Amino acid sequence: MTSLPADDAACGWYRTSRSRQPRPGHAGETKTRWAVVGAGFTGLAAARQLALNFPNDEIVLVEAQEVGFGTSGRNAGFAIDLPHDIGADDYIGDVATARMALKLNRTGQSILRSIVEENGIECHLRASGKYQAAIEDRGVAVLDAYRRGLDKLGEEATIIDGKDLPDHIGTSFYRKALYTPGTLLLQPSALVKGLADTLPPNVTLYENTPVTDVEYGDKTILGHRQGRIVADKLILANNAFGMRFGFLQGRMLPIFLYASLTRPLTGEEQARLGGKSFWGVIPADTFGTTVRRTHDNRILIRNSFSFNPDGRPRQQYLDRFIKNHRISFERRFPMLDEIDFEYTWSGSLAMSRNHEGFFGQLAPNVYGALCCNGLGITRGTVTGTLLADWLDGRRNDLIDMLLASPGPNRNPPEPFLSIGVNANLLWGQYRAGLES
Ligand SMILES: Cc1cc2nc3c(=O)[nH]c(=O)nc-3n(C[C@H](O)[C@H](O)[C@H](O)COP(=O)(O)OP(=O)(O)OC[C@H]3O[C@@H](n4cnc5c(N)ncnc54)[C@H](O)[C@@H]3O)c2cc1C
Repeated sequence: MTSLPADDAACGWYRTSRSRQPRPGHAGETKTRWAVVGAGFTGLAAARQLALNFPNDEIVLVEAQEVGFGTSGRNAGFAIDLPHDIGADDYIGDVATARMALKLNRTGQSILRSIVEENGIECHLRASGKYQAAIEDRGVAVLDAYRRGLDKLGEEATIIDGKDLPDHIGTSFYRKALYTPGTLLLQPSALVKGLADTLPPNVTLYENTPVTDVEYGDKTILGHRQGRIVADKLILANNAFGMRFGFLQGRMLPIFLYASLTRPLTGEEQARLGGKSFWGVIPADTFGTTVRRTHDNRILIRNSFSFNPDGRPRQQYLDRFIKNHRISFERRFPMLDEIDFEYTWSGSLAMSRNHEGFFGQLAPNVYGALCCNGLGITRGTVTGTLLADWLDGRRNDLIDMLLASPGPNRNPPEPFLSIGVNANLLWGQYRAGLES
């Protein structure tokens, strides 16, 4: 592998969730029927479902870092149900397609909820819905159009006028919001740790085991510094790093997102802020700022993007983007101006230009659910689960839809790709105006 995951150290969700003893790394040689690479939402779901579908088989799950430390543990924690097609005028487009996307997302949500409830995973999961909020004219127009699209889909959505928003989220910064009730908000690292610690007994998880080379043949051999794993069947659930295994090269884009978390607000600061005690806001403009008030009364700010083709973080971007977080925080929360960020971190997404993911067979005995397109909590969970069902010979409408996807389309060659992606990110962030 020419590039391995190496996320930065200061992820607030990881640091503030329960600490756990990581499972030992792999050493020596192991032969197994199934190997899954990547213990994020997708890999954890695939390994869990394979174990249930094939109770007599051993499943090996290999993770380069510690569980809960990778992207699945460093996102904004919105498990979103509703489709949002940025290519359609009303963000819904074709109703039949939107209904299937909704069904897929809700299946992901219900899988997560039942695992959390059955295993008592403490991850502050709450069905609190989400506010999509706007300040600029463009953003307000997005909310009105999306509301029409959701009406067409028969989904509940309430417009909240700016003057009423402080009762909900404290700040009077926004002009308008669209509240939809179906989103689950959660502590992502706590959830991922909990998912890993409640895997069925026929899954063996190896943490801190980056796969450094791979040989394909009748069996797949996964090599790493301390040994090798020989698998009859390989499942890749490592998002953009799937390209390092020789698949979907030139089709996925490793895009980095940035987040900061304040210290917990004191009682007096909470009173100054006002509003409800737990909420999440996503921006009307895709390039805008996501904000959350967490279960422990911290404020999360998520904005800024970079294109890091090797899938690895860059300190200079973190240093630059923490300033954007500060500006966005102060715009929204002038009543909390003395509150510092305790943590700032980045995480990598796999995006495709046509917003399609990959699901299915990559090569003989090699399968994958890759390219999350930024919706991995629900999508990763459901596609990992359905991949294991499909490998068990099952078919249903969701599996058929995923198999019928054209997958991520091809990117232009370098240097046009980097020039195009960087220009797009810069323009998008500039155009987001006050929403960033
Ligand atoms: C700041 C931020 C905010 C976000 N907000 C949201 C949100 O609110 N809601 C939402 O749904 N999504 C959100 N996302 C996206 C979401 O986190 C991803 O879609 C999700 O993590 C994808 O899950 P995954 O399991 O497919 O991949 P990943 O989480 O990337 O997991 C893949 C794993 O594979 C491992 N791996 C890679 N290569 C190797 C190797 N060679 N050997 C062994 N292991 C390897 C990695 O270490 C990693 O842990 C956000 C992302 C970021 C960065």
